[in-house]
Amino acid sequence: MEVPRSLPLLLILLSHAACHPVPKTERSFNKLLVISFDGFRWNYDQDVDTPNMDRLVKEGVKAKYLTPPFVTMTSPSHFTTITGRWIEDHGVIHNMMFNTETLWKYSFKDTQRKSEWWDNGVLPLWITAQRQGRKTASFHFPGGGANYSGEAVHRSLLESFSHPDDNETEWRENIDIVMNWFTKENFDFVTLYYGEPDNVGHMKGPETENRRIIIQQIDRTVGYLVEAIEKNGLKDNLNVIITSDHGMTTVKKKPNVTEILLSNFIKFKDLVKFDILDYGGFGMILPKPGKEEDIYNALKNAHPHLKVYKKDEFPEHFHFAKHSRILPILLYGDPGYSVNGRFILYVNKGDHGFDNADMDMKTIFRAFGPDFKKNHLAEPFDSIHIYPLMCKLLGVTPEPHNGCHWLGCGDRGTCHLVCLCRRVYGC
Ligand SMILES: [Zn+2]
Repeated sequence: MEVPRSLPLLLILLSHAACHPVPKTERSFNKLLVISFDGFRWNYDQDVDTPNMDRLVKEGVKAKYLTPPFVTMTSPSHFTTITGRWIEDHGVIHNMMFNTETLWKYSFKDTQRKSEWWDNGVLPLWITAQRQGRKTASFHFPGGGANYSGEAVHRSLLESFSHPDDNETEWRENIDIVMNWFTKENFDFVTLYYGEPDNVGHMKGPETENRRIIIQQIDRTVGYLVEAIEKNGLKDNLNVIITSDHGMTTVKKKPNVTEILLSNFIKFKDLVKFDILDYGGFGMILPKPGKEEDIYNALKNAHPHLKVYKKDEFPEHFHFAKHSRILPILLYGDPGYSVNGRFILYVNKGDHGFDNADMDMKTIFRAFGPDFKKNHLAEPFDSIHIYPLMCKLLGVTPEPHNGCHWLGCGDRGTCHLVCLCRRVYGC
């Protein structure tokens, strides 16, 4: 695909001290639509024609790639995007809610309906924005169906259990609905979620014709979106961010490799009280009382492509393991090596959950609209910075967050962000 290469890359390093917010007047902000296509790896558009997404590069901003947080999983990553907090701070540490006493696990879609999984004292942008007078909505977006401190998102649609991921007609209808929300009901901020290309990536694998076909379907949908924005007269007052939660890699299987199978090294019945395994590249174990050392010692050098940590020793740069929901033993595989427990479920041909430093886990960031630069190829950045960017676009004062300081009041980490906005906010 075509990417503008002649423009200088405007990587701006800013400090909090150099930042003077511009006073806001009433209605000085534009509307914002955030669309997430689950599991859209950063380079999925490079081996297939995507004329509509290519056109957006000329009309807006493209990051070379976006780094999601660890664990590279749907609900945790989406909640970092919408809160600007690391996973260990916002507490949505897995797609599945679980209870180590009852041994219950709730599916991804079940968990969408459980406020107690999402509401851990960190407010997502929907709630913060509506408390500051914005009208907000979530269309299938992870976390949008929960209540936060008793407060629901103004309008929220949850995916049904039988919802098909890949119905192109429904994709277009959803865009039409969202356009009506903006034009007829004056919503200011809407998040819209699609379950592809994640589903195809899992079922068929990322390096397949099926995946290329679904990317073309997404591209047609982006074309439909651009037309709908023009038809509805929103071109000059709607900003759009198109992003995703993680990438996808091909699952490595025998006879090409020796797969990771934990039951080859530990007796589950004797040692394990509860576990979350068989869920892609990442797993956790709660040992039976007094069995932590046994499990750790049995697993730590068990497989050359398996990383095993005690909770306290998990690498800090992942900003993942400090939350109380994290179980005592954490495991992740090298890219493509799924963490299998008692036996191997040969379902997924592609998966994620692996180290977010691996290029196959990187994802996309595109943006266009009145407040974005045009024809701008941005350096890669972390998805945690999307939150302060959204706050700035909506004219909303952010909650404390872990994103870039120049846009808010991040309390950790380095301060840098690709300057994506066309406006200069006094910095
Ligand atoms: Zn997935």
